[in-house]
Amino acid sequence: MKQLFEELLSVFSLERAGIYLGVLFICLVLEIIFIGWENCSLKKIINLKSNTVKLDIFSYIFKVSNFIEILGFIFSFGLSYVIADILGMPKTNYLQEYIGNIFIQNIIFILILDFSLYWIHRFLHMFHFLWEIHKFHHSAEEMTIFTTARLHPLEIAINSIVFSIPIYLIGVPAESYIFFIIFTSWLGHIQHSNLSWNFGFIGKWLFISPNSHRIHHSTSKEHFNKNFGTVTPIWDRLFGTWYELEGESKKIEIGVSQDYHNLSSNIFRSYFLSFKGLFLKILNKNENIRTK
Ligand SMILES: [Zn+2]
Ligand SMILES: [Zn+2]
Repeated sequence: MKQLFEELLSVFSLERAGIYLGVLFICLVLEIIFIGWENCSLKKIINLKSNTVKLDIFSYIFKVSNFIEILGFIFSFGLSYVIADILGMPKTNYLQEYIGNIFIQNIIFILILDFSLYWIHRFLHMFHFLWEIHKFHHSAEEMTIFTTARLHPLEIAINSIVFSIPIYLIGVPAESYIFFIIFTSWLGHIQHSNLSWNFGFIGKWLFISPNSHRIHHSTSKEHFNKNFGTVTPIWDRLFGTWYELEGESKKIEIGVSQDYHNLSSNIFRSYFLSFKGLFLKILNKNENIRTK
């Protein structure tokens, strides 16, 4: 019990917080340079007018401090920790054994994890009860860079469990995993910025751009169930969920209809209501698959 408690506390890592805050600083500056003060995240955060922005800020603080991991542990009744701990000890080292080049190892590892993330994300939209958890992320009505951290702790727990499976099966060097975390956190910050960037050819084939991810948050029906990818658009292209934006992303409204999250800035209320929604949906067996 003492060891478990110590390990849980060890998730408060200064290095992780440093990475997040460094990336945040760069993205905030990029927004000010490229889109100006009026529409940038920093202005929205300083003004602190709307509940949606306040919920983003709480989410970000929980993420940077890693308090979200503790909440994920509690909300998954310890399951996320136990499974991730067991699976986190790879029985094989296939990746290192068969591929000597660390660069290629990283590419393969990113593709495998990104493929897993794509399908988790699709399931979070597909099933009514899982959507109740993921809806918290989509309930953001104004995009701020902080929206990248706006995730229900149970979603974080699900991600860490699913992440552990490929690590267990193929064996992954610690450096590759750290690289993946830094890379995806950078991409996540940029994707939730107000920069109207599509990354050109790179955005079409290699990395999901802010414009593409804004489509995923859109309130327009034609954009529902599109652009699920986290790192690369190839899974969306391969599985028929890719949507390419023509024109400006600034005009796209974001959020979800009939939402209750932004009625208050109390993040624990949001966590609780998501849970309540999840259990109500599980009990209602008639509703099976959702369309957004
Ligand atoms: Zn989504
Ligand atoms: Zn998002």
